Amino acid sequence: MELKNHVICIIATLTLALVWFCISRVRKAVAAVKPPESTSDSQVMDYMIGMLKHVIEALSEVGPQARLSDVSKAIVDVCLATLDTSLVSLFTIDPFVGGIEYEASEGISSSVQNAFIKLAGGLVTERDNRDPWTLDVDRNILDDNVQVIRDSGIRSIIACPIRSAAGASGALVAYYGRNAAPPHAIHLIQAIAAQASAMISYAHEIEQASIFRDGLAGANKELTTQAAVDGLTGLANHRTFQQTLQDLCTSPVGRPLRTFSLIMLDVDHFKMYNDTYGHQEGDRVLRTVADVLATTLRQGDTAARYGGEEFTLILRDADKHEALAVANRIRHAISTQENNKRKITVSMGIAECPIDDTTPSAIIEKADRALYHAKITGRNRVVLWGSTEYNSESIDENPCINVQSEAKTVLVVANDRNANHISKALSRTQCQIDIAEDSAKAAELLKTTGFDIALVALSSLPGADVKSLSDITAIHPHMPVVLITNSHLLEESREALHRGASDVLIEPYNASELPMLIERNLERCRLERQRMSEHGTSLMLQAIDSLVAAIDARDHCTAGHSHRVTTLSLAIADELNMPTDDRAALELSARLHDIGKLGVPDNALNKRTKLTEAEWELMYQHPVLGSKIVGTIDELAYVSTIIRHHHERLDGTGYPDGLQGPAIPYPARVIAVADAYEAMTTKRAHRKCRTPREAFIELQNHVGTYYNEEIVDALGRRLICSGELTAIPERKAA
Ligand code: GH3
Ligand code: MG
Ligand code: MG
Repeated sequence: MELKNHVICIIATLTLALVWFCISRVRKAVAAVKPPESTSDSQVMDYMIGMLKHVIEALSEVGPQARLSDVSKAIVDVCLATLDTSLVSLFTIDPFVGGIEYEASEGISSSVQNAFIKLAGGLVTERDNRDPWTLDVDRNILDDNVQVIRDSGIRSIIACPIRSAAGASGALVAYYGRNAAPPHAIHLIQAIAAQASAMISYAHEIEQASIFRDGLAGANKELTTQAAVDGLTGLANHRTFQQTLQDLCTSPVGRPLRTFSLIMLDVDHFKMYNDTYGHQEGDRVLRTVADVLATTLRQGDTAARYGGEEFTLILRDADKHEALAVANRIRHAISTQENNKRKITVSMGIAECPIDDTTPSAIIEKADRALYHAKITGRNRVVLWGSTEYNSESIDENPCINVQSEAKTVLVVANDRNANHISKALSRTQCQIDIAEDSAKAAELLKTTGFDIALVALSSLPGADVKSLSDITAIHPHMPVVLITNSHLLEESREALHRGASDVLIEPYNASELPMLIERNLERCRLERQRMSEHGTSLMLQAIDSLVAAIDARDHCTAGHSHRVTTLSLAIADELNMPTDDRAALELSARLHDIGKLGVPDNALNKRTKLTEAEWELMYQHPVLGSKIVGTIDELAYVSTIIRHHHERLDGTGYPDGLQGPAIPYPARVIAVADAYEAMTTKRAHRKCRTPREAFIELQNHVGTYYNEEIVDALGRRLICSGELTAIPERKAA
């Protein structure tokens, strides 16, 4: 409103000034725009006053907040209405950014505009120029620009600079063709220019202010966003999370708190991931975790990055059992992401408001402790904070509900009392436990069952010493074996590690440490395998190839055997969709499976007649010897188990340990099939070779007793692909 008054005030002042100006100058008018001869002074006055009134009325209709384009258009319209021409243009100069813009009536082409600017640019841009200007086109024919203007039918031009306090702000131009300019047009255009000046300046300022305001609003919005959002993941940040939680824990007066659940999520073993693949790759994983969270949430829920590799989720109106379903969906989605360098898992803890607690810090603490429990009991799991019955500080008493973790098989070698103690400590985990009361029984059990890890409480076994560890570690050289002992002697620990133990736990120990201990040993084992499969594999393979060539060179008949067994084993692995880690282990062990033959004398190896019992004895030892050779090389240690067992049979009649079924490492079972097929189809010193069909039928005949059915079937499919078999032979009924 104030603005409008201001504009009206300016216009009124200008009008008075103009009326005075026109009266005093009209008689001395520029020759080009004379009033008609017959027009009296009073008629001229009336004419001018009428025109100025129109100008003022028309321009005052333009609102004070009008944009420059509207103001320009109104000025052009006023010119059209008062200057008796249909050809008008208005040039404006932006005082903030410079540059000339124009608004024109119809009929003014850009070539005419440009010609005018070239001809009279100073009129528009020169700071001190204030005088109106006329041009008789017919009389200035020599100029190219005048020619352009003339060609468009224009015969004369009246123009007036527009000036503001800031300097040049544009020019008004009226063009005339056959009809001459009306009397006093030059004064009218000057009057309009005077009014236009204030209006244009004001429009520029408003425009600039709005650009500034928009910029400010944008910057402000950006700042607000930055303060609320985590830069790496785009999720809410810690501050926003705390604020949201605080709001949810503040109930409107007289109303109960609304139910919500808090999930705390932590990426498992993330430090190792960072250490192995680098921080940037780690950051990428954090973003994928955040993406999963963002896509899983419903409207109204909040996902935030709590810090580092920890995230929180607030699920409104959800009790913790509903939250559990969400958490498991998230857990599954993250663990099945395929673009990570290796499988990423997360652990989660859940607490519910108001059942578990009602203040932000208490709810966070409970979800966090549930998360801690998830961590120490195996990771890749979700744990709910117990509800009303929870009243102990001890983790052992925690009535958390454990959900879906990968089950681990644990062999406990201990007397009854110790075994019970260990079983109790592991009862809240997903571990499946088998107990052996001495190392001989353990060795027996290991022949029929595969275990992820063995815990050997040596001091509880009658007559056992650290040497008996070898009975257990030798069978599965790569299975982690933890020695539990009451001996504080450093020497004994050293000896245990030397005999293949992966860790030593000294008694008395805290039972709650056991889940973590198991986890640590399994992880170390897995990492070793991974390190081998990812790093240095190709370098190692080159060295191995020369070793393998040395084995093959000892027996001309079997030259290339290891290479062919490797190719065949990998073909079977592909057919079975074997995981990458296992495939890498299979490749190495297939190449090296016969390396122990380095220890078999030449005469036995190349003998054309039947081997003697003693020679067979030597032959039977080649897997053990091979596994020992390989086990001494750190980077190859993890394949030593496979090499040791590549001559085992499902029914336990194989060698060297007579392992049965699941106790035989799977890659060893694949090599057994590939090895047998390759041996049968290659000419040997003591026997002729069989056809692929004969060899395959022989394998089929031993499905279930020596070989796994799916492995033999996979081989069959590959042989069909390679053309060695035309069809899978019908299997004889067992
Ligand atoms: P746990 O399963 O017990 O959670 O093991 P962890 O290794 O994940 O746990 P810990 O808390 O020891 O390690 C957290 C690691 O997270 C430490 C650091 O390397 C990594 N980390 C924290 N913030 C970031 C980040 O912004 N980017 C990346 N790449 N890594 C981060
Ligand atoms: Mg952490
Ligand atoms: Mg972590």
